[in-house]
Amino acid sequence: MRLSSCFMPTLRENPAEAQVSSHRLMLRAGLIRQASAGIYIWLPLGLRVLRKIEQIVREEQDRAGAQEILMPTIQSAELWQESGRYDAYGKEMLRISDRHGREMLYGPTNEEMVTDLFRSNINSYKDLPKMLYHIQWKFRDEIRPRFGIMRGREFLMKDNYSFDIDAEAGRLSYNKMYVAYLRTFARLGLVAIPVRADTGAIGGDLSHEFQILAETGESTLYYDKAIEDFELSSLSGDIAPATIEKLQGLYAMEEEKHDPKNCPVAPEDLRTAKGIEVGHIFFFGTKYSAAMKATVAGPDGKLTPVEMGSYGIGVSRLVGALIEAGHDDDGIIWPEAVAPYKVGLINLRVKDDGCTAACDDLYHRLTQAGVEVLYDDRNIGAGGKFADMDLIGLPWQLIVGPRGLKNALVELKCRATGAREQLSIAAALGKLGA
Ligand code: ATP
Ligand code: MG
Repeated sequence: MRLSSCFMPTLRENPAEAQVSSHRLMLRAGLIRQASAGIYIWLPLGLRVLRKIEQIVREEQDRAGAQEILMPTIQSAELWQESGRYDAYGKEMLRISDRHGREMLYGPTNEEMVTDLFRSNINSYKDLPKMLYHIQWKFRDEIRPRFGIMRGREFLMKDNYSFDIDAEAGRLSYNKMYVAYLRTFARLGLVAIPVRADTGAIGGDLSHEFQILAETGESTLYYDKAIEDFELSSLSGDIAPATIEKLQGLYAMEEEKHDPKNCPVAPEDLRTAKGIEVGHIFFFGTKYSAAMKATVAGPDGKLTPVEMGSYGIGVSRLVGALIEAGHDDDGIIWPEAVAPYKVGLINLRVKDDGCTAACDDLYHRLTQAGVEVLYDDRNIGAGGKFADMDLIGLPWQLIVGPRGLKNALVELKCRATGAREQLSIAAALGKLGA
């Protein structure tokens, strides 16, 4: 992509309305613009990141055996009346009526709809287990939308729902998702701490929140440092069920539930940090299936309510969370897996024919090799180009100017470390995978 024809409205100044780094940087780097409170337009650069995160989430859901569907954003109130949540959900639910006066709503989540889908199509244990997920916009009329897209009103979520014949099988589905989550966040370059969440009144319920560590996190966590060690060492191969349960047994608590007097972790092994919740998994058994009569026949022919779990990832919140975890004073530092482009090619002297010819050629060769390049071919000063490139945070900057070219050299800068190298054109291409 040539920057001269790109829609990338960057800002020099810090926008007054942004309190946290990710919100500031998303506005300044031209990733989003606010449409109304808690509702955002995704601009080209931001959308590329969102789509890449979405794709990693999707691949790990598929790998775990889940199947993708797409449920609508608008739902009918009836199903929610059946589950009993229509009134209970309160003011966070955006309620709408259609032209016939029917009560509708913009979905804040999809348990009811997917339970209805299940009961009308599946009725035997032979068709189990099943995991169905979608990646869809949600609306929650949050009382205090803030931190940009991190707590928006409209946001993109991956939500998956598991269906099993009994609680034991349900637990297996839960563990599959637990591992899928660890893999997803590891691929995004994040350490996510699985924190035991509220298990509600019914015994046997199981729930974890996945919190990534960042100073601006909304919750304070206490956790066993063995969790970090585990994630760094054992996520590449298959993970044995015993290992999963061992990891789930490691201590991690939110501040409100952390009791220093009764903490099982030795003080030298206990870590404390702020966390941002990026995912939440829940095994809730028959809560919805009993209320909505979603039953299956077991091997003995007896009908029982199906055992269910639900598993959410805040796909759009992850964009902000990644920036909170990866930025410096100059701007964003994207991990390569989700960067909008891998390389920023900077032409220092557009008016110099030799320099522009060399840049055009590099752009062509990189693009041909499948390397994603944002080519700064604008006729502006070098200072502005460097500042913009640091701000938008692409992993690599390839800097080309007349002086280096005299010696057949270009410069390659790594955004994360700031390290710069003078290289021949061939060596630079090699390093960038072309
Ligand atoms: P929170 O405690 O942050 O409000 P939640 O418990 O309401 O989250 P879930 O219903 O479990 O969230 O939704 C799954 C995921 O969706 C969350 O882990 C989070 O990453 C994301 N999410 C929830 N609410 C928002 C929001 N208002 N804006 C952006 N992402 C959100
Ligand atoms: Mg919430």
